[in-house]
Amino acid sequence: MNKKHNFSAGPCILPQEVFEKSAQAVLDFNGIGLSILEISHRSKDFVPVMDEARAIVKRLLNLNDDYEVLYLGGGASLQFLMVPFNLMKQENGKAAYLDTGTWASNAIKEAKRLGTVHVVGSSKAENYSFIPKDYKVGSEYDYFHCTSNNTIYGTQMKTFPDVDTLMVCDMSSDIFSRQLDFSKFDVIYAGAQKNMGPAGVTMVVVKKEILGKTGRDIPSYLDYSLHIAKESMFNTPPVFPVYASLLTLQHLENNGGIAEAEKRNEAKAKLLYDEIDSNPMFETFCKKEDRSLMNVPFKITDESKKEEFDNAWKAAGINGLNGHRSLGGYRASLYNALPIESVQVLVDVMKSIK
Ligand code: PMP
Repeated sequence: MNKKHNFSAGPCILPQEVFEKSAQAVLDFNGIGLSILEISHRSKDFVPVMDEARAIVKRLLNLNDDYEVLYLGGGASLQFLMVPFNLMKQENGKAAYLDTGTWASNAIKEAKRLGTVHVVGSSKAENYSFIPKDYKVGSEYDYFHCTSNNTIYGTQMKTFPDVDTLMVCDMSSDIFSRQLDFSKFDVIYAGAQKNMGPAGVTMVVVKKEILGKTGRDIPSYLDYSLHIAKESMFNTPPVFPVYASLLTLQHLENNGGIAEAEKRNEAKAKLLYDEIDSNPMFETFCKKEDRSLMNVPFKITDESKKEEFDNAWKAAGINGLNGHRSLGGYRASLYNALPIESVQVLVDVMKSIK
């Protein structure tokens, strides 16, 4: 196979080993004479997959047993609703949100269904080109919600505020990409389809002690406590995405964990940003200090060269470089599994446009 250089924003590139092992499991899972797609999620062959997929997240994020890990359906988008259902008080519920992009504002929209949302900082008026920083979150809020990496606008929170309430973070597009003190957060969620695995499953990490305090009657599927009690098997979990996620996380653990992934990600991002900054043909959309190491939206400064550039990157075997429809231009996503060699191919193409 002539493998492409895949800069897709998600679903996206995963380690080749994961593609191969998950393909094998579809044909014959662990040599049991059955496909992973045809066995019960409660079988003795699958239960250890779910158990290990939950355990490995805690090892990689360095979290203790105060936390539980869930694998749920519905995408990160369902978490926009599950978070307020589980954390916002029934009476006079009030939450603080940071509005840093499309996904953050979608989360705000869902939370407003259940209570009062106070947007403590927003960069919307400047097309989400930076991360707001001067805000305070006091104990009058049930929780604070932020988005660590803005997949569309290419900004990333480099630090997280100290807040006087629970801290919830959508880490869909930079989970497992950099070292953080993950114990600072009470809920972390991430759609798997970037650094974790294929689309179809969402990982949720919850600190147990925060649950059961809202006075709400929570619909069964939306209740974190129920999923915890059932060890993430309340209903049939998305077995194949869970398995492929486990393989991806094992690959990460066997290759130096988050610490080494972070070094590789920093090197890849530096290579690309250095080229954009030194090449007058290209520029980014956002403030330098807030630039994402995962998603790099950029534009060409001379539109008359667009066709030449498009032909050149396609001829170089690059895939997934078109920008998001709301921003236009280009977007290079540099997720964990993208090798630096692919970034070098892109940089060489950029240098060739004169
Ligand atoms: N949050 C972020 C940061 C995202 O990038 C995305 C989509 N890629 C979502 C939420 C929505 O995720 P899903 O499509 O899994 O609902």
